[in-house]
Amino acid sequence: MFKGILIEKDEAGYRAAVQDIDPAALPAGDVTVQVAYSTLNYKDGLAISGKSPVVRRFPMVPGIDLAGSVIESSHPDVKVGDAVVLNGWGVGESHWGGLAQRARLNGDWLVPLPAAFSPAQAMAIGTAGYTAMLCVLALERHGLTPDRGPVIVTGAAGGVGSVAVAVLAKLGYRVTAVTGRPQEADYLRQLGATEVLARTDFSSPGKPLAKERWAGAVDTVGSHTLANVCAQMSYRGIVTACGLAGGMDLPASVAPFILRGVTLAGIDSVMCPRPERLQAWQRLATDLDLTKLSLITHDIGLTDAIPTATALLAGQVRGRVVVDVNR
Ligand code: NDP
Repeated sequence: MFKGILIEKDEAGYRAAVQDIDPAALPAGDVTVQVAYSTLNYKDGLAISGKSPVVRRFPMVPGIDLAGSVIESSHPDVKVGDAVVLNGWGVGESHWGGLAQRARLNGDWLVPLPAAFSPAQAMAIGTAGYTAMLCVLALERHGLTPDRGPVIVTGAAGGVGSVAVAVLAKLGYRVTAVTGRPQEADYLRQLGATEVLARTDFSSPGKPLAKERWAGAVDTVGSHTLANVCAQMSYRGIVTACGLAGGMDLPASVAPFILRGVTLAGIDSVMCPRPERLQAWQRLATDLDLTKLSLITHDIGLTDAIPTATALLAGQVRGRVVVDVNR
């Protein structure tokens, strides 16, 4: 038996609890992983709490990412003993995920653990950090460079936001962090933000076009915040949209796109093709200051993951939460 969080939904309702799980119940897959660490991402919060219909099959082990070592494999490129990382591919949504001591997966989904990271550090980065790097890669593909002007990061004290601030600052950008938690201003400055603005400056309906302020943007919030960021972009600026922490809607106008040539780039980490995943992890190894990770991260055990999920959705968790599934 191994320990894991199991989400069940039946006549008794929607519930998540740590349980002893029979390995025979693991889903089909060509690789079995002994999980060392998983994490709590926003999506895991939604899955564990049942606040949004993220889980598509029951019972479900949540956890959209994991780091661990391979204990069984019939995949030609994955060997027993390999240290691996997994992000997305529907794991923790439609396929049992990382918030358990064991996972059975499709070997094509696995990325080798970069030599620069321990399993715990890889999960301190986790899906949030890998998504932040996908945003940075999209900004760069558009041709953004630090001399073009400042970059704004919304939901900055969250997981994606924290890593985005740290990476962009290390790359030499002037970074403006937007947060609803003024008490985290010092934290955001320690990560490298040069300016910290209040969430309320962005969260109400604004004008279709506003003063040009940003050359690039990483938005984790959506809704009015994303609309206002688009309206404040400089000529030919680039906005990467990856999140919906403030809402799924986008009450915007086309003005920034047709009058200022602004680009809105969508970022998806779940089905992102493998070459870009490998590139993102490689870039994290060089462009994230690992000394910042201890500032961004705190560790919890498997049982703590359930109450922490609620706190995360309430916007009370700073940075990243690493889950030691063996604690
Ligand atoms: P976190 O919960 O760690 O961070 C979200 C942050 O958003 C909070 O810390 C808070 O930042 C801000 N926030 C929360 N509620 C609101 C609100 N009502 N209005 C405005 N801001 C709010 O989540 P993650 O960093 O893990 O994820 C961020 C978003 O990105 C989520 O929506 C998630 O679903 C999405 N995501 C998307 C991925 C993709 O593939 N596209 C992959 C990973 C995440 P602060 O306190 O600083 O204001």
